[in-house]
Amino acid sequence: MPRQFFVGGNFKMNPISRAQKKVIVNELNAADLDPNTEVVIAPPSLYLLPLKDIVRSDIKVSAQNCYCKTSGAYTGEISPVQLADAGVPYVIIGHSERRTLFHETSELVAQKTKAALDGSLSVILCVGETLQEREAEKTIQVVENQLRAVVTLLNESDWDRVVIAYEPVWAIGTGRVATAAQAQEVHAYIRQYLSTAVSPAVSENTRIIYGGSVTATNCKELSTQIDVDGFLVGGASLKPEFVDIINVKR
Ligand code: PEP
Repeated sequence: MPRQFFVGGNFKMNPISRAQKKVIVNELNAADLDPNTEVVIAPPSLYLLPLKDIVRSDIKVSAQNCYCKTSGAYTGEISPVQLADAGVPYVIIGHSERRTLFHETSELVAQKTKAALDGSLSVILCVGETLQEREAEKTIQVVENQLRAVVTLLNESDWDRVVIAYEPVWAIGTGRVATAAQAQEVHAYIRQYLSTAVSPAVSENTRIIYGGSVTATNCKELSTQIDVDGFLVGGASLKPEFVDIINVKR
């Protein structure tokens, strides 16, 4: 079965008011969206449930993070089981802002991924190299190390609910997008790695999406790459052009 195209919107810590959140949702609700693309939006946790109640039923919601424990004395954290109980189907894990600003290691990212999957969530798992790592020609090594930590903890069947987001750190929020060739090279590598480290079936079925300064313009060429199965969109997911990104395959 062909992999379904996937477009996620990571709102990060935006918007800053409930009124602005409603404007974004109203635009999505009124839009003519490609029914063949899976669309998931990730607002701040405060807005998850109110947004879920007002957004159209063919758009799913995602948390931007969760902890690796079910319950307990972890002030400020949200459990995957709580998210699932609230009807939130997806969570983003390992975003570069969490790895960098909040010092999340690949081991913690792997534990969170496993806990989220055990808690019945689907996971958008982010990986990617810094500019320094790319310039030192360590991209593949870095991405492989980030993936290996997760591969070690997951069963083969867990991968049914994982979407891998390749997000080069130097492209996130910078306006500097990877070229189609750069993205395809890493996506192809990730697919090959999954084949040997997990199984050919998981390699064939797992969606690998690109993130990093995606816009309605640059998504066109990226979307033609054989191993690019969609996008994780930050800044542009708050703008009307998000609809054009969702509809890029039409
Ligand atoms: C992101 O936050 O995952 C992201 C890709 O951001 P941006 O599109 O703004 O670069």
